[in-house]
Amino acid sequence: MAVFHDEVEIEDFEFDEEKDVYHYPCPCGDRFEIAREMLEMGEDVATCPSCSLIVRVIYDPEDFVKLETLTISSGGEAIAETA
Ligand SMILES: [Zn+2]
Repeated sequence: MAVFHDEVEIEDFEFDEEKDVYHYPCPCGDRFEIAREMLEMGEDVATCPSCSLIVRVIYDPEDFVKLETLTISSGGEAIAETA
C-alpha cells in the first residue's frame, strides 16, 4: 500500500491549462503533478517527478466525469427522435 505524504484538496492545487495538469508544491522544491485526465479516470495520486513522495488528491469524481463518456455509455437509444 502506498504511503501518502499528505492529502490535498483539489482546490489547493493549481491548474496548468496548457499542460492540462494540476500541480501542488512539493517539500523537495519541485511539485506534485496529476493530469486532469487521470482525475477523470478516478486516479487520486499526485506524484512528484523529483522525489518519491506522493499525495492523495481529495476531490469529487463527479466533477471530473466526462460528459462525452456519459453520452456514449447511455446508449444509442438516447439519441432516438421523438415521433
Ligand atoms: Zn518532490
